[in-house]
Amino acid sequence: MARATLTIDLDAIAANWRALDARSGRDVETAGVLKADAYGLGAARVGPALLAAGARVFFVALAEEGAALRAALGPGPAIHVLSGLLPGDAEILRTHDLSPCLNSAAQVIDFENTLPNHTCAVQLDSGMHRLGLNASELASVLDPLSRLRPRLVLSHLACADAPDHPQNANQRRAFIDLANRLPPAPRSLAATGGVLLGPDYHFDLTRPGVGLFGGLPFTEARPAVTLALPVIQVREVATGGGVGYGAAWVAPRPSRVATLSAGYADGLLRAIAGGAVQLFAGERACPLIGRVSMDLVTVDVTDLADVPSHLEILNARQTVDDLARAAGTIGYEILTSLGDRYERVYKGAAADPGAISGRA
Ligand SMILES: *Cc1c(COP(=O)(O)O)cnc(C)c1O
Repeated sequence: MARATLTIDLDAIAANWRALDARSGRDVETAGVLKADAYGLGAARVGPALLAAGARVFFVALAEEGAALRAALGPGPAIHVLSGLLPGDAEILRTHDLSPCLNSAAQVIDFENTLPNHTCAVQLDSGMHRLGLNASELASVLDPLSRLRPRLVLSHLACADAPDHPQNANQRRAFIDLANRLPPAPRSLAATGGVLLGPDYHFDLTRPGVGLFGGLPFTEARPAVTLALPVIQVREVATGGGVGYGAAWVAPRPSRVATLSAGYADGLLRAIAGGAVQLFAGERACPLIGRVSMDLVTVDVTDLADVPSHLEILNARQTVDDLARAAGTIGYEILTSLGDRYERVYKGAAADPGAISGRA
């Protein structure tokens, strides 16, 4: 296997869904948020794995993502589109039975005009000031909403990853106050962070995304990805020899340096350099050295007796959040940056046993 291989553990993702589901009461439903192609991991494979685990409600960002997910899931499960009804989307929503999360008074009116008998959800702005109807917009469309009868009322927390942030309780109160003005419908406020805030935040449906994929703030998540990079060259570097662009790393001793095939074009952000990132040969950790190139990284393997064919940069020892910390970003961005040059391998009982190696 000469290519870098991204292994996606569908059983870990299913287990993370079940663990988040177990955090809330019996009468709270747990959805799966699979926007951006399931945070870069492949909605066509992750969706069916969550369906098998028991998920019946899904969220995507865009109507096109919803159409692709519908093809993978088949008829039945609810698929909500977080961007709502965007111009030109009505036909795709109708054809693929997708429920838009109506985000503004204009979307509500547009929806009633174009898809009056279709299902919808409504998103309220409880204080994040990003998407959703605020109090005055809501007042202006109460009549159409009482005719449309949204099947879900949702809002999103801005600070759920900071449990002590006062905005959490403020948004919860604002959400209840706004939702009480609508005809009764199931309510949803919590993403991964909100699930962890506890039962006051769960309402009828929770919407975890990143926690399914092993990311913070769900510290107990099982890591879902392993990324193994092929060693394509090993060379000896004398003391004082520089490695890579800018000679940014200089050998402090006679060194052996491995060059691996993957770089910032594959989502190994240039900013991870200097952030104490390791490459793993089994248990042995070797430091990433020098700059990250577009297609290559370099690793100090001097202390390895044998250099294996591949070294791992993501695994249970070094997660997407560790790489994120090194790069000054968040695990979400690492996940969604993982590029399409990797060979993607799906493993676990939830993967189709006949075709465990296939691209999503
Ligand atoms: C992305 C998103 C989620 C999932 O958030 P995570 O933090 O990944 O769990 C839930 N709801 C909305 C509206 C979102 O945009």
